[in-house]
Amino acid sequence: MPELPEVETVVQSLRTSLRNRTVTGVDVRWERTIQAPDPKHFARRLQGQTITDVSRRGKWIVISLSGDGAFDTWLIHLRMTGQLILERQDAPDEPYARVLIDLDDGRRLRFSDMRKFGRMVLTDEPSEVLGELGPEPLDDTFTASRFAEMLAQRRGRIKSLLINQRFLVGLGNIYVNEALWQAGIHPERKANTVSSTDVQRLYQAIRSVLRTAIEENGTTLENGQYRQANGRAGNFAQELAVYDHDGDRCPRCGTTIERIEIGQRGTFVCPTCQPPPKET
Ligand SMILES: [Zn+2]
Repeated sequence: MPELPEVETVVQSLRTSLRNRTVTGVDVRWERTIQAPDPKHFARRLQGQTITDVSRRGKWIVISLSGDGAFDTWLIHLRMTGQLILERQDAPDEPYARVLIDLDDGRRLRFSDMRKFGRMVLTDEPSEVLGELGPEPLDDTFTASRFAEMLAQRRGRIKSLLINQRFLVGLGNIYVNEALWQAGIHPERKANTVSSTDVQRLYQAIRSVLRTAIEENGTTLENGQYRQANGRAGNFAQELAVYDHDGDRCPRCGTTIERIEIGQRGTFVCPTCQPPPKET
């Protein structure tokens, strides 16, 4: 599933191409992709609007629009398998295309989504969708001391907390495993029992893994589901230390990496670098 680095990569590559482009056609092929308004209204309302900016909030792609004196926001969530590909309008048809957006420069934005969990919203009140999200981990306002305060108030398991988008946005199962390994923290530790030294290390690890993954244009796993907007894969998979590496050796200490389940999600730990909690 795309996480912050993948969404950021898509946003950065679409920003230049989409800015100042006007939507000339909307073809909704899978109606449930459109969360709101209803698909017919969505298509009518998006048509003719001009894209003024492309940004990101958490894992949501945020496309700012202007048209007829109104300022709508077009929100896109890729969820499991969503892809946004910029291509020519005469590009060959693709079996998983769910929404096609024609632009005034002869190109089109194709939203493909094999598993069909991706969603789009067109709204003039984006805060209704984005309002409950936690802080952005790469923002200047997200400091180590703020992170420490946030963790001190929570008793849940650290891994479950870090992938909760209301607590902190952007992390999913790949980067949370990597960050916890980098920081040497077992994913089942309770958040409020993590020492201040470890919180500092975790803060650095989260920011470092996200920044490096953005530089590598994200992680494309063997299933190939994540693609950049130009159709290319991301390059971070080869730098993964623990995610999907059970049975391999820990790059830091050589211990065999183990796979456990937390909240029905595969979780990867080095039992030496990430000692299990004693408190349970
Ligand atoms: Zn290790």
